[in-house]
Amino acid sequence: MTNQPKLLDRRTLIAAAGATAALSLAPGCAPIPNRPVVVLGAGLAGLSAALALQDAGLEVRVIEARDRVGGRVLSHRNVPGNPESGGTSFAPGYARLVSACTAYGVGLVDLTPIVPLFFQRDFYLGGERIAADAWATHPRNPFPEPMKKLLPWAYLGAVVGTANPLTTNDAWVDPTNKALDVSLYGWLSAQGWSDELIRMAYDINPGWGDNARDVSTLMVLCALKFQQTQQELARGKAMGYVAQGGNQAIPEAMAKALKNPVELKRQAVAIRADETGAEVRLADGAVIKASHVVSALPTTTLRDVKIDAPLSAAQSEGIGKLGVQTISLMHIVPKSKFWELDGLAASMATDGAVNMVLAEHKGATPDEITSLTVWLRGENARRFDRMKPAEAMAAIVQEIEQLRPAAKGQLEPVTYHSWINDPHSKGDWAVWHPGQVTAYSRALAQPAGRLHFCGEHTAVSNRGMEGAMESGERAALEVLQTA
Ligand SMILES: Cc1cc2nc3c(=O)[nH]c(=O)nc-3n(C[C@H](O)[C@H](O)[C@H](O)COP(=O)(O)OP(=O)(O)OC[C@H]3O[C@@H](n4cnc5c(N)ncnc54)[C@H](O)[C@@H]3O)c2cc1C
Repeated sequence: MTNQPKLLDRRTLIAAAGATAALSLAPGCAPIPNRPVVVLGAGLAGLSAALALQDAGLEVRVIEARDRVGGRVLSHRNVPGNPESGGTSFAPGYARLVSACTAYGVGLVDLTPIVPLFFQRDFYLGGERIAADAWATHPRNPFPEPMKKLLPWAYLGAVVGTANPLTTNDAWVDPTNKALDVSLYGWLSAQGWSDELIRMAYDINPGWGDNARDVSTLMVLCALKFQQTQQELARGKAMGYVAQGGNQAIPEAMAKALKNPVELKRQAVAIRADETGAEVRLADGAVIKASHVVSALPTTTLRDVKIDAPLSAAQSEGIGKLGVQTISLMHIVPKSKFWELDGLAASMATDGAVNMVLAEHKGATPDEITSLTVWLRGENARRFDRMKPAEAMAAIVQEIEQLRPAAKGQLEPVTYHSWINDPHSKGDWAVWHPGQVTAYSRALAQPAGRLHFCGEHTAVSNRGMEGAMESGERAALEVLQTA
């Protein structure tokens, strides 16, 4: 992590790896003349793989089901400040993503001035507002001394993150740690955490899974380790970035750098691959013969693709069963500065129907609030996802108004995005349920003949957008080494 080369250096290395591999071709695995490498999915993983392969001199075609590139990176250009419904922010330690911005001309917005504002929220517990400075002495605060002053969303990182048994970013996939592939609930209970402590520190705003029973301890520890590494790499640098024009500008710029334009609105429905060749069938009936296929699809949509390739049993099962996060986001434009009327923090965290309402400070000055983003996770997201988007938005506005009378009539809902209902994602980031790290983490990224796999769920050392980039680069190298 610490000494990652810049993308251009890395691209040179990958191109060199390609040249070396080409000199030592195994006859059965050589590139097939006039056949491209076909990359499925134009999210960050697929685009990263495609660019690396193109840089190494291969012909690449990228097939994308949507009418846009970026996948789970989605910026709303119709809302002031271009808020995100997908990949939200990144840090200087996202070496590949930051280098891609440099290489493809995407400007970065330094979030340092607004990061402290991001953490200014009031906590609403059972409908009661608890100001941040009143939490430490609140009768319902279950945290032990001296951690009572930690707010619920900071507790896990502060307590578990600083005593993390995983000492490196990739330790979560090391079989020697498999005793930790148990539910977070079980692991914390065994250390004396009460149910109320676990609920407050995790379940009211679960980052992975619906609650602590639903997620492997290894997954949470790996994410906390990644966060810690990112904090260390950010020291003395920016506290975070978004891309100018919204993070979607990054995949858009990457796609522009491809010689063959991304083929939009083309959905893969079947893949066939063995040691001698590969082909992809699309929903429009076309069949593309390929030298290699790189699947950059999430497991949730890959499981709808008919695969005829030498997958291992664990790989097939993992594609079918790997968990996925349920998240829906809504963006609201405030008609007035109602937080000045009631004098409370503009952002809120609750244990109720709405997990978080976050004020977006994306205007000309750090204190300007351009929109509000509502985060719904797990059962909360499912509840509103069952409604039509307009009904869901009206119901969410009502929930906020109940907690916040000054907001009444001041919230203009603009957009609602359910990642579970999105047919090309069918969920947000991968969630490793208890036992799944041991069962699937190694198998899911294994090539099957000339079929290779990438996507954030196959990343080892990084998470989120950087994980997607890491995985794309790894898949490209695999192709080059077997080509
Ligand atoms: C709400 C939210 C907040 C997030 N916040 C952060 C954050 O702050 N920092 C961070 O680092 N990460 C964050 N992430 C995660 C990050 O956005 C993702 O991990 C990353 O973008 C995943 O990239 P990917 O290329 O692996 O997958 P995707 O972006 O999902 O790409 C897969 C592509 O495949 C396409 N596709 C699917 N099925 C087919 C098919 N059958 N045929 C053809 N194409 C198909 C899809 O349309 C999609 O474009 C967030 C994500 C969400 C949703």
